[in-house]
Amino acid sequence: MSVSISKIVQALEPSATLAMAAKARELKAAGKKVYDFSVGEPDFNTPEHICQAATRAMAAGHTHYTASGGIQELRTAVAKAYQARHGLEYSPAQVVVSNGAKHSLHNAFTVLCDPGDEVIIPAPYWVSYAELVKLTGAKPVIVETEEANDFKLTPGKLRAAITPKTKILLLCSPSNPTGSMYTPEDLGALADVVQEKNLVVISDEIYERLIYGDNKFASFATVRPGLIERTITINGVSKAYAMTGWRIGWTLAPLAISKAMDSLQSQETSNPSSVSQYAALAAIEGPQQCVDDMLKHFAERREYVRHRIAELPNLSCPNMGGAFYAFINIQAHLGRDYAGKRVNNSADWCLELLAQQGVATVMGSAFGAEGYARLSFATNLETLAKGFEGIEAFLKS
Ligand code: PMP
Ligand code: GLU
Repeated sequence: MSVSISKIVQALEPSATLAMAAKARELKAAGKKVYDFSVGEPDFNTPEHICQAATRAMAAGHTHYTASGGIQELRTAVAKAYQARHGLEYSPAQVVVSNGAKHSLHNAFTVLCDPGDEVIIPAPYWVSYAELVKLTGAKPVIVETEEANDFKLTPGKLRAAITPKTKILLLCSPSNPTGSMYTPEDLGALADVVQEKNLVVISDEIYERLIYGDNKFASFATVRPGLIERTITINGVSKAYAMTGWRIGWTLAPLAISKAMDSLQSQETSNPSSVSQYAALAAIEGPQQCVDDMLKHFAERREYVRHRIAELPNLSCPNMGGAFYAFINIQAHLGRDYAGKRVNNSADWCLELLAQQGVATVMGSAFGAEGYARLSFATNLETLAKGFEGIEAFLKS
């Protein structure tokens, strides 16, 4: 019997970041030395006090179902943290805790999009946005941006992409995959168009705590009065607290939207892991020194990566204001042979780099930008040094 897969899932691209990470793992398992800069996740272990809170939660019997949208203490803690950091007023009911920020994004698109609606996504974009939009039957509208403008969407480009069907603008700052950041003024100028055209904004702020130097982070909902009514903010503990495996993310949204997401989640997954929720609570309410300590390491690696890219012939990358990615322009290195293998595009380049030098990166085409490769520098300096030796040897081959 041949079973057919639904058309909507047939059209789904698997996550390229996770696919490259799996390929790197496979090669490692086969005994090859691999320097893995594919997946974007902190290499640090979750801080000890957070792990201890999870152990205490288990001992205290917090091993049952919780409210589908998360325990009250965590929703309250998230709301308080937003009030303290950004002056935004949310009730705990406006916070929905989900199985990672990816799930929060899925919930947000699912409760907002009808088939035919359009969602504007500036490219380069994180691999999951367009696919999650397609799952709802809505249409991702990809808008290209310029490297010379650090890959930021401009009000003019936004305006030109809006049609009567446009419902949502997706923003991600600091950006995965480029590391670039919108200034508060940039966001304000986009917000003016958003308000004029009556759009909803999904603002993915998962890298909010990983900001370098003098760059100023502004939560989108704060940059103009009234935006809180049309913004869904996505965040979570994965990146700031090195908690990718715990699977806790959340949304802050207008109450009607939060209620809809809570109700969707109650049918879809029920609550996210009870133990993980207590760990996330300890992360938010506990000492924040761990975030600063990790940031120091990321900042050092960013400097190193910046220098190495500048040293190598004909490579460049936009200014990395935050997150832990370098989005390397490799255009000058395409259309030639590497050790007898023809390399025409970013996918060829990344696959050959992995095969020939054991260096894993992710092709720009997966992020909607041909001619680039994304390197995650959430790895130690020693691995980065070895990886850049591999890249250098590859470019010379
Ligand atoms: N948004 C962005 C921009 C990301 O880079 C990630 C990391 N995969 C996510 C959302 C999802 O995070 P989580 O691991 O919490 O699902
Ligand atoms: N955000 C990370 C990345 O882009 C995690 C992998 C994923 O969820 O796609 O590499």
